[in-house]
Amino acid sequence: MIFMTASKHQDDDARFAALRKSMVAEQIKARGITDPRVLEAMEKVPRHKFLPPHLWEEAYDDGPLPIGYGQTISQPYVVAYMTEQLQLTGTEKVLEIGTGSGYQTAILAELAKEVYSIEIVPELGHRAARILKELGYTNVHVRIGDGYRGWPEEAPFDAILLAAAPDHIPQPLLDQLKEGGRMILPVGEFYQDLVLIRKTEEGIIKESKIPVRFVPMRGEAEKHPKSSSDKKR
Ligand code: SAH
Repeated sequence: MIFMTASKHQDDDARFAALRKSMVAEQIKARGITDPRVLEAMEKVPRHKFLPPHLWEEAYDDGPLPIGYGQTISQPYVVAYMTEQLQLTGTEKVLEIGTGSGYQTAILAELAKEVYSIEIVPELGHRAARILKELGYTNVHVRIGDGYRGWPEEAPFDAILLAAAPDHIPQPLLDQLKEGGRMILPVGEFYQDLVLIRKTEEGIIKESKIPVRFVPMRGEAEKHPKSSSDKKR
C-alpha cells in the first residue's frame, strides 16, 4: 500500500513535469519568450504546488486561477514575460510586491540571488512562505504588510516586480530601485499597461509594454491621487 502511494506520487510528478514542458512550449516559447534561464525556471517550478489540490489538474492551463481572498495566481505567460523583462543573471537582490500564491516568487528565487516579497493578506503570505520553504527555497524572505513603501531596510534593489496594479507609480519603490535597475509593474485602473522602468544615469525611462489585467494594489496606493505624469500618454 505504502509502495503504491509512493509510485503514484512519482507518476504524478512525471505527469505534471510533462504538462509543464507543454506549457513552456505552447504558451511561453510560442509567444516569444527566449531567455533560456526564464524558460528553464518555468519548466522546473511546480506551479500546481502553489494551488489547492482541487485545482492541480488546471495548474498548467493558459490563464490565471483563484487562490482565495479574491486574489489570483497570475497566468504563466505573464509571469514569464514580466520575469524576462527584469533580465536577471543570478546576482540580483529583487523586491516583489504581492506574493499571492508564491509562484512568481519561486520563479524569481530561481533566477536571482535574494528575493524580498511583501503580501498584504496575512493568510496568503503565510501560506506562500510555508510552500516556498517546503520546496527548499532559502533565498526568499516574505513579509506581511502594505508594499507601497517597499522594504527600506533592504534597499536598494536591482529589480522590482509588482503583481498588483496601482493607478500611479509608487515613488517609494522608484526610490528603492538601484541605478541601472529595472522595475516592472501594471499601472492603471480597469485597463492597465505593463510598464517597464529603467533607472539610468540620465534619469528614469518608462516604457509601456503590453495591456494586462491585475488585481488592484490595495492600501496606501489607493489613497494617493494620481499625478499628471502617470496619465496615459
Ligand atoms: N504573482 C502572484 C500574483 C498574486 S495576485 C501569483 O502568481 O500568485 C496579487 C497579490 O497582491 C494578491 O495576493 C494581493 O493580496 C497582493 N496585494 C495587493 N495589494 C498589495 C499591497 N499594497 N502590498 C502587498 N501586496 C498586495
